[in-house]
Amino acid sequence: MTPPLDVLVVGAGPTGLALAAQLRTYGTRFRIVDRSLDRVRESRALGIQPRTLEALAGFGVTEELVDRGNTAMRLRLHLARRTVSVPLFDIGATDTPYPFLLFLAQAETERVLGEHLAARDVAIERGTEVVGLERQGPLVVCRLRGRDGAEETVTARYVVGCDGAHSTVRARAGIGFEGYAYPQTYLLADLEVDGLEPGAVHSYMTGAGMLFFFPLGSPAPWRMLAMRPSDVPDSKVTLPLLQGIAERYGARGLVLRDPVWMTDFRLHNRGAAHYRCGPFFLAGDAAHIHSPAGAQGMNTGIQDALNLGWKLALVCRGAAPEELLETYGAERAPVGRDVRRFTDRAFVIGTSPNPVLRFARARLVPHLAPLVRHATAPRRWVFRTVSELGIHYRRSPASTTGTRSPRRGPRAGDRLPDLPRGLQAQVAAPGWHLLLTGPAHLWPDERLAPVLAGRADLITVHRLGDRSPWPDVAQGLLRPDGHVGYVTRGAELGGLRAYVERWLPAEPT
Ligand SMILES: Cc1cc2nc3c(=O)[nH]c(=O)nc-3n(C[C@H](O)[C@H](O)[C@H](O)COP(=O)(O)OP(=O)(O)OC[C@H]3O[C@@H](n4cnc5c(N)ncnc54)[C@H](O)[C@@H]3O)c2cc1C
Repeated sequence: MTPPLDVLVVGAGPTGLALAAQLRTYGTRFRIVDRSLDRVRESRALGIQPRTLEALAGFGVTEELVDRGNTAMRLRLHLARRTVSVPLFDIGATDTPYPFLLFLAQAETERVLGEHLAARDVAIERGTEVVGLERQGPLVVCRLRGRDGAEETVTARYVVGCDGAHSTVRARAGIGFEGYAYPQTYLLADLEVDGLEPGAVHSYMTGAGMLFFFPLGSPAPWRMLAMRPSDVPDSKVTLPLLQGIAERYGARGLVLRDPVWMTDFRLHNRGAAHYRCGPFFLAGDAAHIHSPAGAQGMNTGIQDALNLGWKLALVCRGAAPEELLETYGAERAPVGRDVRRFTDRAFVIGTSPNPVLRFARARLVPHLAPLVRHATAPRRWVFRTVSELGIHYRRSPASTTGTRSPRRGPRAGDRLPDLPRGLQAQVAAPGWHLLLTGPAHLWPDERLAPVLAGRADLITVHRLGDRSPWPDVAQGLLRPDGHVGYVTRGAELGGLRAYVERWLPAEPT
């Protein structure tokens, strides 16, 4: 009988692919299956946020994504009588190597991640559907149905549902998915547009709603997204329909042509009641769905995966306690809730038929829009939120501050900023990284030996001197997902030792 898998990854969308990449890094025994025969060919999610680019850098795929994508740095807001240009991502972006929103079709993102896995001998088992999941003692018995209809049974310690909004894993685990559907229908198309200035995001705002054009490149130069006006009945999406709607939103003088994909859809805002139930975990759209406002969906899913993968890997190899897995939901569920709330507000403000909001869009925005470029503080907040650089796990049980908190610099639970420049690249290798600042003589090998004993293969030590994110003599232990797990000021190592004994016990758990 074949030994059980450590992890079965269900779904090979962006979330499942990112999870597989991380599990592969740690040598976990896993399989990744997807019921569809081919990867996504449509553009779907098209914005990759700075934090996602940072998080994927450790796999060596970020440069390729950036090379293939389009970095739009301006929003052109087309109002009734004038057009206002608002710089994007020019504030609050000094601590990341990727200070831009990257536009790239989801099909391309999945292709790059898929090729990364293929180069590491990970087979994505397409045409394989999970049709049954049953707990049996400490294991899950999984029934897989292949493309020829034949069934196979495998056992796994953990099953991760990266299987999208209609998740089978979520249903089998009995986890609720509460929320609501928005009343409006949205139209979406990848196409060519004559008359649009290239290299910018274009937005047309009226009392009736909003129309966007995003620079895409492949599979078509532009992505159009618009709300279907309430007096336009549901019907097949055609080019003349889109042209007419664009004109109603004030986009006159544009010619839409050569569509490669046109669709309409209704949006939902829903969240899983739990991110974990026993051996079942949920990540990505299986755990949260919301409007595309702010390009958060795929990004949040990839970051769910990269929060979970290393935890599963370390627990499966006996290097971390099972308790570490509880921190997944504790850290990611609040992020999912915040994203749902933020995208809901942005979407309602942009599209609600409420008379007050219609009036604000039609009458106030034209006056306020030119002032936006001077509103430094709100723009900084929006950038930190949308870019996902502001996500932190300060309240997580796995985030600990020692007896003395550094006066400045990242706190326990924060992502490590790329300050000084190049620091993130220095700590990009898999595993934990111990950052020691101040004079090197404070950190001789003998002092570190008790901290590293039995776990030296998991922790890489960096004596940073004064090239450090903290101004003081400090110790920071960086988790494999780039967040600070433990930090303290001073050279006393007792707190650090207690932290590693709790989360990385040297004796196998
Ligand atoms: C039309 C459309 C437009 C979108 N536009 C945007 C956008 O502009 N911006 C944005 O941020 N997001 C957008 N999204 C959402 C974005 O595509 C998702 O957030 C993202 O794909 C989520 O990734 P995921 O891997 O979690 O799930 P998915 O991409 O849904 O992948 C789930 C995978 O699981 C597989 N699967 C399901 N059930 C099983 C099973 N039982 N067994 C095996 N495999 C299974 C499916 O075949 C699928 O490949 C759009 C989505 C759609 C459909």
